[in-house]
Amino acid sequence: MNKKTLFQEDHDYVWHPFTQMGVYSESEQIIIERGNGSYLYDIDGKPYLDGYASLWVNVHGHNNEKLNRAITEQLGKIAHSTLLGSSNVPSIELAKRLVEITPSNLRKVFYSDTGSASVEIAIKMAYQYWKNIDAEKYASKKKFLTLKNSYHGDTIGAVSVGGIDTFHAIFKDLIFENIQVGCPSLFKSDYDTESELVESITKEIRHILEQQQDEICGFIVEPLIQGATGLYAQPVQFLKEVEKLCREYNILLIVDEVATGFGRTGTMFACERADVNPDIMCLAKGITGGYLPLAATLTSQAIYDAFLSNSHGKKTFFHGHTYTGNQVTCAAAIANLKLFEETKLIDHIKVTSALLNQELEALNVLSYVGNVRGYGLMYGVELVNPDQPVEPLAIPTVERIIQTCKDNGLMIRNLENVITFVPVLNMSEHEIKKMIDIFKNALNQVM
Ligand SMILES: *Cc1c(COP(=O)(O)O)cnc(C)c1O
Repeated sequence: MNKKTLFQEDHDYVWHPFTQMGVYSESEQIIIERGNGSYLYDIDGKPYLDGYASLWVNVHGHNNEKLNRAITEQLGKIAHSTLLGSSNVPSIELAKRLVEITPSNLRKVFYSDTGSASVEIAIKMAYQYWKNIDAEKYASKKKFLTLKNSYHGDTIGAVSVGGIDTFHAIFKDLIFENIQVGCPSLFKSDYDTESELVESITKEIRHILEQQQDEICGFIVEPLIQGATGLYAQPVQFLKEVEKLCREYNILLIVDEVATGFGRTGTMFACERADVNPDIMCLAKGITGGYLPLAATLTSQAIYDAFLSNSHGKKTFFHGHTYTGNQVTCAAAIANLKLFEETKLIDHIKVTSALLNQELEALNVLSYVGNVRGYGLMYGVELVNPDQPVEPLAIPTVERIIQTCKDNGLMIRNLENVITFVPVLNMSEHEIKKMIDIFKNALNQVM
């Protein structure tokens, strides 16, 4: 198909996610045709460094031979059969591996296919857990403790525990009520030290728990970094404090590691860095190396046991998606985990994340850089108005920077006035440097 027809038919038939199509349709957009390693190639063959890892998912690069092979080998056996009332080999093998590599509390794996679904499942499980234990005693447990500025996905339950006003406003009659608390952000602090900041917020949380413990099923958090709202990094100790509070007030700790899981923040899971052992963990994005949609909700033995009975209708978790435990996606995930070991990827990320950190921190001297924050290969650079540094940089200017990067062969995205660096996880040092150089040149050109 020729290029003109493709552009036309994209506009004619496709409704893009999170996109104002009225604006999208005004210009010609990039159409990707293939990928290789850290690069994406458009229909003209123009290469772009994948600085957003195709929306935070790509791990070992595009068109990876071993991942390709694992997928085609599985296709040679079977693509899909259901987990309802039967099982399959890759889903068993993967569940065992996930239990082995995640924090020790987590013993069981419930599959689904998107991050949002993994969160829905976590919410419903946590809610039903209390009902299954003692419906009368825990009758008032109907809410979740959530963090301001959090993002847990776009389905109604996930939006209900999210904390982004722009996404919430229109759906306010559909979403259920929760209790929201502030989240300490490393760089937007009214306090002198991280400890003071964490202390003040944990005090606020403790106060809420003292008052409303009986109403709360669990506390859901994005550990270490709140992603989609603007890459807000938290002090590591905050997560530990959250865990302590959950234990003290007997509520479940749910960590949404959909974005942070699988090496993104520099350790296999963000929980590791804070030495936190949750009751429920949500996984998606990087789980298949960024190849196929798969998600998992992992739970403790205690939660699993609360759903056991000797009768089908009693205590059963009535939830399941058609493609639960799909063989091809599970085979990709198994190959992804093998590659983590074979390539010693976590060690590699230690080197590249130090480089990314150093290169981005150096930009702090610029009058229009408000701050730089993140962990691992998940960084945000907040741009401000150079004349009025308390104000964000005007969005049309931010968009010009992004466009200039694209023109010069770097694919990155902004979240409002925050430029996000979430590259392919196995990007080389050379490619990380190149990514930063293109960004710096774009800043020079536009600012
Ligand atoms: C992306 C994301 C989700 C939603 O995942 P989808 O696969 O897009 O539904 C949920 N939580 C976090 C933290 C995410 O980053």
